[in-house]
Amino acid sequence: MVLDAPRSPLREAELPRLELGPGQVRLRVLACGVCRTDLHIRDGELHEPKLPLVLGHEIVATVIEGGRTFEPGRRVGVPWLGWTCGVCRYCRSGNENLCDRARFTGYDLDGGYAEEAVADERFCFPIPDSYSDAQAAPLLCAGLIGYRSLQRAGVAERLGLYGFGAAGHIVAQIALSEGRRVFAFTRPGDEDSQALARRLGAAWAGDSTSAPPEELDVAIIFAPVGELVPVALRAVRKGGSVVCAGIHMSDVPQFPYDLLWGERTLCSVANLTRRDGTELLALASRVPIHAEVEVFALRDAEYALDRLRSGEIHGAAVLSIS
Ligand SMILES: [Zn+2]
Ligand SMILES: [Zn+2]
Repeated sequence: MVLDAPRSPLREAELPRLELGPGQVRLRVLACGVCRTDLHIRDGELHEPKLPLVLGHEIVATVIEGGRTFEPGRRVGVPWLGWTCGVCRYCRSGNENLCDRARFTGYDLDGGYAEEAVADERFCFPIPDSYSDAQAAPLLCAGLIGYRSLQRAGVAERLGLYGFGAAGHIVAQIALSEGRRVFAFTRPGDEDSQALARRLGAAWAGDSTSAPPEELDVAIIFAPVGELVPVALRAVRKGGSVVCAGIHMSDVPQFPYDLLWGERTLCSVANLTRRDGTELLALASRVPIHAEVEVFALRDAEYALDRLRSGEIHGAAVLSIS
């Protein structure tokens, strides 16, 4: 499924097979998660994607050929981080997520809304056997970004999650397994997502417009809504922090300095490192993380994006491709 230009529907197409470069593997895609970032690219909110483009950066696939790391037939996952330079100051300091020249899957590189894909073997992870293809896909971005955000949150007993979709419902499971308490905020009136949060064990679930029943230590904002920044700052205690986890957010409105005062911290989380991937996949089976997935056929990718845009997906959307 090809994106020819932003704000145009994905188109079904036959593409020529790519030549493999050194260290690249050819993959047979089994499943690919549908991430909010795909929607931002599709809708022209993220600029200068490769065009035409195959979206998709939560790829679960088997290796067909190429590279040296994986035997043919091995099942691997391909995340958003598709290539880094290895030499810039960020790469050299363990912050490859900030690499100046990073290339991203399904944005700078063709991704997984396809029957086949090509990836750099150094950026592929083995998928634990206990996970089905559809279950594993959301771990590769929603899970990873959630995990990285939670690391950034540090020690926090009372964790607020603004936006309870793919990432929110996965990070809630990790946080609860660590003994934290979770407060889930959804779009006003989204009772299905609130019910999902309670079912998973959240201490409280409600509309993003309401105040939590007690002060939060940390809030993570997954929703791409800048208005939530002052709302979340108001909900966290002195010394607490607000972590913005989305790649795109509408403008943050002006707010009084009082909301930041008291040593509150406001920060963002960008992309992932390969270390995040290894750690999260090891953790996933231990928790164990169970993603709520709604499965679509590859040719229904545009429909899946529509449903995500209108807030009708509860949990994560996944394209099944095998
Ligand atoms: Zn670099
Ligand atoms: Zn993503």
